[in-house]
Amino acid sequence: MNVLDLEEFNVIEGWDSEEYYKFVVEAKEPPVFCTLCGSFIEEGQHFKVHDKRPRTVADVDLRGKKVVIDIIQKRYKCPNCGDNFTEYFKSIERNDRVTQRLFKRMGEDSIKGKNTFKSIAEQHGVTDTTVKRAFWQHVDELYRGRVLIAPRVLGIDEVYLHEEGVHRKQPYAVFTDIENNEIIEFLAGNSKELVIDVIKQMKGYENIEIVAMDMNSGYRSAVKETIPDAYCVVDHFHVIQKANMRLNEIRAKIQNKLNKGEKKELYKVKWLITSNRENLDEEAIFRLDSELEKYERLHTAYWLKEGLRDVYKQKTKYDAFQQYFKWEQSFPPKGANEMRKVQKMIEKIKQEVFAYFDGRITNAYTESFNNVIKRIVRLGVGYSYDVLRAKILFGTKATEVKKLKDMNFNRIFNELARKSGKVIWTDPNSEYAENYSYRVNIDDLLQAMEEGEL
Ligand SMILES: [Zn+2]
Repeated sequence: MNVLDLEEFNVIEGWDSEEYYKFVVEAKEPPVFCTLCGSFIEEGQHFKVHDKRPRTVADVDLRGKKVVIDIIQKRYKCPNCGDNFTEYFKSIERNDRVTQRLFKRMGEDSIKGKNTFKSIAEQHGVTDTTVKRAFWQHVDELYRGRVLIAPRVLGIDEVYLHEEGVHRKQPYAVFTDIENNEIIEFLAGNSKELVIDVIKQMKGYENIEIVAMDMNSGYRSAVKETIPDAYCVVDHFHVIQKANMRLNEIRAKIQNKLNKGEKKELYKVKWLITSNRENLDEEAIFRLDSELEKYERLHTAYWLKEGLRDVYKQKTKYDAFQQYFKWEQSFPPKGANEMRKVQKMIEKIKQEVFAYFDGRITNAYTESFNNVIKRIVRLGVGYSYDVLRAKILFGTKATEVKKLKDMNFNRIFNELARKSGKVIWTDPNSEYAENYSYRVNIDDLLQAMEEGEL
């Protein structure tokens, strides 16, 4: 045993500087066979040393410091083939300048969300190419051992991301196990064929009981085709999201016709328009309302959005239906075309929308996961799709998602409630239900977690 814990070497000397430890080592045992022709040396004999050359490799950190190893690598003359062969080390990566254990470590580290190839290369003083190779070796192993298992509650969602060289954001499909907060699959595209394919790849997909999804019709028909008995739920978040998208459209259209000053004023309340009204403070509400007053079309649409949110504040499915009916009645006889579109969309899939009130299954996890994905994309600008996918499938479990998984959502909500002194979220059927607002902003949640508040 030596300080390096690399059995095949003797440490000849070692010293440390500010930045690193350095060791000079050589092989303990001479080789017993020629690596070129494979012939063994006779017992009691040794290959003759032809020459010695130093070879420098990087190793895993020791006590928080970089480690550099100078290996005195020998070349031997083989009496059988007559050529000179270089001695081989089992703990050193072939044709590279790192130990195998560092290579493996870099592979594991490089899939983690927050690390980039560059940051790891810099950390260990190796090239990006070495890190990339370590990444792929590790990822290939993970893919080989991967089996898609159908969850009881499946979440299907999409996230739009920028691709290098493509102007418009492109859709990616995200499949999650909602009950266990785990990602199942992440793929480019969002077509019906793709969704069918992924579902059929899952072991035991026939047993999927519930599928939570957005209002996208491609997903719905794919589910109906593959698992007709599954119960489809469109959660409240996606319904409100549609209303908010329409609000944004209206605001943008109005903005285009305004002069510079007016435009700026309206733009300033952009986020307030799509926020939950009860989460805004008095000052924000005042600013928002004074802008809304100026534009009747936006004002009407805004209150229809808030009215739709009231539906989700109901405790029972029955009450929700009643409130929804009231909401429909609150439309003005003319105009509000954008919100009419939302209403028509809900009308088409009313069963799924109101199915939400049966089990309160939500895609909140999938949504929060989409934010994790977006952060990975931001960090690793220029990742290829293959790298991104591997990082998302394998890297997130060990980092961000693990954190989310460990902290069960109810516990986080309760913790936030305790800290803020008000009930933020609770089971709508419970005794606290009088006083809850519907959705905690997942970004706020992630931020709070990052800042160590939770
Ligand atoms: Zn030989």
